[in-house]
Amino acid sequence: MAEKKLPDHLHLDTLAVRAAVDKSQYGENSEALYLTSSFVQPDAETAARRFAGEEEGYTYSRFSNPTVTSMEQRLAALEGTEACIGTSSGMAAIMLMCMGLLKAGDHVICSQSVFGSTIRLIAGEFGKFGVQSTFVSQTDVAQWQAAIQPNTRLLFAETPTNPLTDVCDIQALADVAHAAGALLAVDNCFCSPALQQPVKLGADLIIHSGTKYLDGQGRVIAGALCTTKKLIDEKFMPVMRSAGLTLSAFNAWVVLKGMETLSIRMKAQSDSALQLATWLEAQPQVARVYYPGLKSHPQHALAMQQQSGLGGAVVSFDVRAGKPADPVQARKNAFHVIDSTLVCSITANLGDTKTTITHPASTSHGRITEAQRQAAGIGQGLIRVAVGLENIEDLKADLARGLHGLDTLT
Ligand SMILES: *Cc1c(COP(=O)(O)O)cnc(C)c1O
Repeated sequence: MAEKKLPDHLHLDTLAVRAAVDKSQYGENSEALYLTSSFVQPDAETAARRFAGEEEGYTYSRFSNPTVTSMEQRLAALEGTEACIGTSSGMAAIMLMCMGLLKAGDHVICSQSVFGSTIRLIAGEFGKFGVQSTFVSQTDVAQWQAAIQPNTRLLFAETPTNPLTDVCDIQALADVAHAAGALLAVDNCFCSPALQQPVKLGADLIIHSGTKYLDGQGRVIAGALCTTKKLIDEKFMPVMRSAGLTLSAFNAWVVLKGMETLSIRMKAQSDSALQLATWLEAQPQVARVYYPGLKSHPQHALAMQQQSGLGGAVVSFDVRAGKPADPVQARKNAFHVIDSTLVCSITANLGDTKTTITHPASTSHGRITEAQRQAAGIGQGLIRVAVGLENIEDLKADLARGLHGLDTLT
């Protein structure tokens, strides 16, 4: 019997389960895991052609492995890009992007609210090799426009941001980039393709930390870069062959299987996050809630349009600590709320089915100065919750325990 070929124009939920199923001779229904460092070649001539890139065929798992290929094809199908490269982590995907696109003397414009390691990699590490960078406001398109230079090659944004959930206009930034002959990259970690497909809004490259929602169960570190086949063949594969940013077959397999439940998880976790954010906004001990799904969010309309009508699963909030807020008391109150949880995990990871809770000012943003934190809007009373799949009533009760205890604490 001939192998069935998937019809065109399938929905995202179907692609998440069905795209890129690799069949071995055994016809297994679940994808195989190819744990092998190298591949046996039929003869020396074929080996020579494969190593020269003149013939398709696996050779060595530093640059190609069937399980990694399946994960790449499935993610590309979900993002609507021609191709994808799996990498050992989200940071390795950013590293790959910068190594492939930039050289000494080139200029990058980056949102100042992106993931902290991204800022350190671009400004610090690539700065050492003569790459220039300018950091601008996430939401003010005029600042991106004003930062354009003749040598600008890349614009890089992340939306929504961590932990304050600022949303940027992908289409508007793509227009700024393209008018300047530059490319726009979007870190799509927080939404995942289940909510937001940046290339459909004009972005050229998508960065993923597979560690977050793609795996979805907090098991592995993984990453990916999605873009055109041309850029992958010409700019990124040469780097992959030499640089060793390789995604392991095992981790690729975990992410591949994780993606099968991506869209139902994203919907369920976003629904719970909206309920939690709405409830938090009504608590007298909470000064402010940051969540794109709330009408009070400054970019609510844009977020709903860009993110399939969902706010994502990350909610941040400031606990009250007097007026004006006293930073010492704010930190004490935030720690009290975090330490009173019995269900949530105290960890800085996100994108897990288990709800996580963290204090950004002393963890993810703990190594910058107080002045830098204040400029970024990350106060000592800020708490970030990455909502998982627990029952929403249990999550509310978990936060209520600490919040309602604050009245006696202050
Ligand atoms: C976690 C994260 C990264 C880095 O991913 P790793 O897999 O930890 O290397 C990059 N961007 C965002 C938005 C993240 O949350």
